[in-house]
Amino acid sequence: MTSQANGNGGFACEPAPSSETSIPCPCCGGMLTPAMVREIVRAAREAEAEPKGEGAAPSARLAAGAMVIDPHAHMISRTTDDYEAMARAGVVAVIEPAFWLGQPRTSAGTYLDYLSLIAGFERFRAGQFGIRHYCTIGLNPKEANNEELAEAVMEILPRFAVKEGVVAVGELGYDEQTALEDRYLRAQIELAKDYELPIMVHTPHRDKKRGTLRTMDVLAEHGFDPGRCVIDHNNEETVEDVLERGYWVAFSIYPETKMGNERMTEIVRRYGPERLIVDSACDWGVSDPLAVPKTARLMAERGIDPEAIRAVTYANALSAYGLNGEMREEHWLDPAPIDQRTLYQGNSVLRGGQTPVIRTPGRPADLRIT
Ligand SMILES: [Zn+2]
Ligand SMILES: [Zn+2]
Repeated sequence: MTSQANGNGGFACEPAPSSETSIPCPCCGGMLTPAMVREIVRAAREAEAEPKGEGAAPSARLAAGAMVIDPHAHMISRTTDDYEAMARAGVVAVIEPAFWLGQPRTSAGTYLDYLSLIAGFERFRAGQFGIRHYCTIGLNPKEANNEELAEAVMEILPRFAVKEGVVAVGELGYDEQTALEDRYLRAQIELAKDYELPIMVHTPHRDKKRGTLRTMDVLAEHGFDPGRCVIDHNNEETVEDVLERGYWVAFSIYPETKMGNERMTEIVRRYGPERLIVDSACDWGVSDPLAVPKTARLMAERGIDPEAIRAVTYANALSAYGLNGEMREEHWLDPAPIDQRTLYQGNSVLRGGQTPVIRTPGRPADLRIT
């Protein structure tokens, strides 16, 4: 076939030679030649002709137009192309966790503006592309080590805890596991309790296992209900402990790294879908905003049960982050119309002369891949 089978047994839309006519792929925006389109149509017909149910080809068993949620996406670092590609791939909602910016903030003022951005303009921007946007608020572990900044941020957090679209306190946890990180982790667990918010935990990239166990111990010391807490960035080393203690267990799928979608598929096969959540953690680094739909598709190809795929790429995230009532399925099942003429504090997502998109987002199942 003309499109290349990639290492996942999937399909990669290769750039077409400039001499050939080509059209953009609706899933990834890569260019498709007429020959590639013919191949896709042929494969689709074949799948249709195959028996359904027992013995059906796995890819044929994944519901067309399946919806996914990416519950960990730092969208302020992503482009409008990313939003468009995510919407086409079936992403109906994203959660933007408060985190650091790649370099330390120098004052609480920039923190305040950041929190207003993820709870305000970014929410608006996502909506302009048909994606519902929520966020978590919190002082991240790295910046907890700047005591003066940390104290000032703790002062401003309560006013954001009650804002529309805020679904949890996070990302909390440890980075280097210092005394200051410990102090502000505990203070923010109490904040989450006071405002009846769930918690999103970022487990450290170094010394992950010890950091993860320690975070869960601290949560337990504060009597925080594990059923209201998502522990993120897990791997095979941490999954069992986190599941055993009753937490939601999230996995960030980074391209070409330790926790890729191949391994995620094996984890779901081994542990089942209960309380497992897949996310992309896409940010300003090398990451993939389509990691969740791509993982869903790979799981389907590998014969994972469609209900299990739905649980780990959609339903579990909705259950965990829907706990305080801010995130509700009706937001995307019965969405507000997209109207790119809308302004946010006088600003638009359009630039000089661009034609605004005005339509009902709904669910363009014909465009969705999983
Ligand atoms: Zn994180
Ligand atoms: Zn993050």
